[in-house]
Amino acid sequence: MSKYVKLVDVTLCDGCRACMVACKDWNDLPAVPEEFQGSYQSHEKLNANTWNLITFKEKERPNGSLDWLFRHDSCMHCSDAACEKVCPENAISYTKFGSVVVDSDTCVGCGYCVQNCPFESIHLAEYTDEKQKKYYKAQKCTLCTDRLEANLQPACADVCHTGAIRFGKEEEMLALAKERLKKVKDRFPNANIYNPQSIDGTHTVYLLADHPSEYDLPVNPKVPTAAKLWKDYAQPIGKSLFGVTTMAVIGAFIAQRTQKKTEEGGAHDEHEK
Ligand code: SF4
Ligand code: SF4
Ligand code: SF4
Repeated sequence: MSKYVKLVDVTLCDGCRACMVACKDWNDLPAVPEEFQGSYQSHEKLNANTWNLITFKEKERPNGSLDWLFRHDSCMHCSDAACEKVCPENAISYTKFGSVVVDSDTCVGCGYCVQNCPFESIHLAEYTDEKQKKYYKAQKCTLCTDRLEANLQPACADVCHTGAIRFGKEEEMLALAKERLKKVKDRFPNANIYNPQSIDGTHTVYLLADHPSEYDLPVNPKVPTAAKLWKDYAQPIGKSLFGVTTMAVIGAFIAQRTQKKTEEGGAHDEHEK
C-alpha cells in the first residue's frame, strides 16, 4: 500500500490559522488561554492540547523589506521515529498510511518520547483519576489517522484555503514539491524541500522558502544511537531470552539515559535545492 505525505508549502501559507482551529475542532482539544507572545504567533510552541501551530518570524531582506515566515508546525511522522524507538511500553507505532500514533491505553506517561523527539512535537497531557491521583499520557498530531481510515483528508489539509497544506500519496506529493520548488526559486533563492534522510524521510514534508534553521528546524535530526541499538537489536533478542516484562524495565532504563540529539549545522545534502 502507498504511504501518504502531508506537503506543507510555506510559500503559500498566509497565516490564517484555520488549520489550527480545524485541528482543535476535529480532535476535541481544549482552547487553553495563552500569554501574548509579542508577535503574530499565538502559542510559544506545540503542547499537549495544541498539536498544530503556525509559527511566525519576520526576516529582513538585504533591500530592507521584510519577509513573513509562516510554518505549520506539527508532528513530522518520521519514517525512523525516535519516539517509537524509545518507548519502553511499545505504545507508539507506525500505521499503514505512514503516520506515527500513540496508543493511550498502553502509554504509561513516562515521557521518554517527549525527551527524545528531535522536533519537540510530542507532549504529556495531565489527567486526574476518580481518586484524584494525577496520571499522564503522551499526546501529539495523529496525521488524522482516524480520518484517513474513513477516506478523508487530514482536517488541517481540508480547510487550508491557499493550498499550503496538501495531502496525498507519497510519490505524488514529492513530485509536487519538486514542481513547486522550481516555480518559487526565482522569488526564494534559498528555497528547499525538507524531508530529512537522516531519519529516512518524514510524512510531513515541507517546501521551505529559506534554510531550515530560519524555521527552527534541525538540519540533520537523528534518532539517539542507544535508542536504535535497543529497539533494533537488544529488544528482539532479549524478549526471547528474558521475557517481555523484564525487557520493558531494561528499555525504560535505556530510554532514560538517551538524550535528545538534534545536530545543527553541516549535512545539507538531504535538502533538495
Ligand atoms: S516528530 Fe517526534 S513525535 Fe513525531 S514521529 Fe517524529 S519523533 Fe515521533
Ligand atoms: S510517555 Fe512513555 S509510555 Fe507513553 S508513549 Fe511516551 S515513551 Fe511510551
Ligand atoms: S493532521 Fe490532523 S492532528 Fe495533525 S495537525 Fe493536521 S488536523 Fe491536527
